[in-house]
Amino acid sequence: ALPEAPWARPLSPFSPVTPQQQADEARIERILASMTLAQKVGQMTQPDIRHVTPAQVRQYAIGSVLNGGGAWPGDAKHAAVGDWLALARAYHDASMATGLPDPVPVVWGTDAVHGHGNVFGATLFPHHIGQGAAGDEQLVHDIARATAQQVRATGIRWVFAPTLAVAQDDRWGRTYESFSEDPAIVRRLGAAAVRGYQGDTPADLRQRDDTVIANAKHYLGDGGTHEGADQGLNRASAAELQRIHAAGHESALDAGVQTVMASFHSWQLPDGADGTPGTDFGKVHGSHALLTQLLKQRMGFDGLVVSDWNGIGQVRGCQDDRCAQAINAGIDLVMVPEDWPSFIANTIAQVQAGEIPMARIDDAVRRILRVKLRAGVFERPPGAGRHDGDAQALVHRDLARRAVRQSLVLLKNKAQVLPLARGQRVLVVGRGADSVAMQAGGWSLTWQGTGNTAADFPNGQSVLGALREALGTERVLHSADGRGVDPAAYDAVIAVVGEQPYAEGNGDIPPSGTLHHATRHPEDLAALQAVAGRGKPVVTVLLSGRPLYVNDLINLSDAFVAAWLPGTEGGGIVDVLLRDAQGGIAHPPGGRLPFSWPRSACQTPLNVGDGQQPLFALGHGLRYGQPGDVPMLDAPVPSGGCGASQVLPIFRAGQAQGRHGLELMGLVPALQRTRPMALADDPNAVQQLRDPARPADAEPLLTARTTQLLTQHDARELRWRGPAAFLAWAPQPMALGVYPEAALVFALRVTEPPAAP
Ligand code: BGC
Repeated sequence: ALPEAPWARPLSPFSPVTPQQQADEARIERILASMTLAQKVGQMTQPDIRHVTPAQVRQYAIGSVLNGGGAWPGDAKHAAVGDWLALARAYHDASMATGLPDPVPVVWGTDAVHGHGNVFGATLFPHHIGQGAAGDEQLVHDIARATAQQVRATGIRWVFAPTLAVAQDDRWGRTYESFSEDPAIVRRLGAAAVRGYQGDTPADLRQRDDTVIANAKHYLGDGGTHEGADQGLNRASAAELQRIHAAGHESALDAGVQTVMASFHSWQLPDGADGTPGTDFGKVHGSHALLTQLLKQRMGFDGLVVSDWNGIGQVRGCQDDRCAQAINAGIDLVMVPEDWPSFIANTIAQVQAGEIPMARIDDAVRRILRVKLRAGVFERPPGAGRHDGDAQALVHRDLARRAVRQSLVLLKNKAQVLPLARGQRVLVVGRGADSVAMQAGGWSLTWQGTGNTAADFPNGQSVLGALREALGTERVLHSADGRGVDPAAYDAVIAVVGEQPYAEGNGDIPPSGTLHHATRHPEDLAALQAVAGRGKPVVTVLLSGRPLYVNDLINLSDAFVAAWLPGTEGGGIVDVLLRDAQGGIAHPPGGRLPFSWPRSACQTPLNVGDGQQPLFALGHGLRYGQPGDVPMLDAPVPSGGCGASQVLPIFRAGQAQGRHGLELMGLVPALQRTRPMALADDPNAVQQLRDPARPADAEPLLTARTTQLLTQHDARELRWRGPAAFLAWAPQPMALGVYPEAALVFALRVTEPPAAP
């Protein structure tokens, strides 16, 4: 059972029982009574649009489809609004032809996490971290509402947003999807986002043309994993889970959020936190305590819980297409993007065998139907709304530009070099200066945000483009590496540097590594070195999904601005850097740090109230006119990382005894979606891996067989015979701690073969 914590029971706008709700519930019972078991399981199934046709939606009575980052049939990036709407319409029409007397429309969910990120031509807003810096509920609400319009234009009714993670370790690659490390900020902005997406009242969600179903993700505690490992292990006590990680979920429930996504991570109470040693609640996807007892019973959530991408396969003993535990734990709708036909067959068989009670299936289907009714999906098919099919509904440039201005955090402004006067000639340097792709980051046309060019953002503008527009092309010099320009040619330098796009995983930072990532792009440091000390002020704009240890870059800059991942409107940055035409200040920087900024590379995790001395505290942000110098900072970049990582076994040794094969199975889904890591099964390779002289940044070593294993996507295949040592290995030795399961594999080292299957 779940340890006691002061869990709130939010009261959503949907709580009062109205005549509408009574009518809905009666209709739900009638529909349910008319459904076969197969139709019920179909209703609980959510394939990816690349893997399901409208004909199959009809045949299997599929309840929901999704497209995650970048997914469009054929992976074409530039589908037009009309193509999207036509596909939404085709799925809808198919779902209305299943033969049910009161047919149930399919609902399409999409990752519109900072605007409609998958759609060509859509304005993309600052990611959550930038919205957290702006800290403005109305702004967050307006961005969500504009996103809802974009999504409705394509005929889609559900967004997998907002993310309510309270990220506690900046090495987590999804830190940028978090509004803040501070639960109070996440609580405020999370609710504002839900109201933006869904509207304030049940009538808004049901009737308006510019609302969509919101989704609180990832429930519960995704931002608190050990060493910031993506999909790792959260060891919070129940009280910490409530105080830190539940803040945004409580307020989202209060605001009436209709769907909740289970998180990929595991939860294990530290020894003693509830009186029992190492209480293991395992993967959230299999946790009855979290999904049913806490969320549905104690917090009173009556909407639907969706699993994450193949998330049910992470539960011990489960596969992507088969997991009674997850359904019994409280997953209602199963995101099973690829293997959905076998999921349907397996689940039907499990119900028939009594492994999943019929009452659980009925409860899941009730919840799914309830959400669809509340969202007006029955009454208003794709194509019926005011924005449906309207390409103009994708474009919200003014709002995005304002959001960027409000999200910028000024960290250094020596001798008040900012804002720059308009008449100046500016040299623009850095990899990010002409890159809307770097501004946009992950979840932008492709899942990881990689591989995008200017042509992919027809309605976007880079910092360079916006500067040319503001100052006139003749006043703007551009040199990406900062070299070859005579200082007599310009009055000031603007450098735009930072992180390459990434979505899930950890970006380029090994979670047990350090935060000096930006300086590991040697071009950034080189560009600043090329322009610093030449008698011209250097203004640096950092594009990043988190605070970074960039003391060397700050030292070389007269002014330093954290711009986060601002999205498609680089003009918002330029508005803040420049004075207006009259020499006044039209747009001061509006942001305050939503995360503590580290003073040293090894200051991780770093959080408000933890007693450490950050370089810039949570809430810090200079205003124009304030003294803004920062004394020279220590800038050593640790060569060997930040000390030994704690090996954190997810299973206790006793449990693992003799079950090495099983433990390894648990490893595979995590590896699929995270950093490259080698599993070597060849004794020579093992020797190599052990070699302490191996360069820290060497490429991961994959044998042919392990490569096959890692791509096979089938945990059952991860059995081996013969004397083999399995080692998990990542580019830096410390990174072993990142993947708790991997660390255990490392620690256990199989010396004898398990019994043949
Ligand atoms: C992510 C979710 C996302 C889902 C659908 C998962 O990998 O964790 O945040 O909504 O994919 O694309």
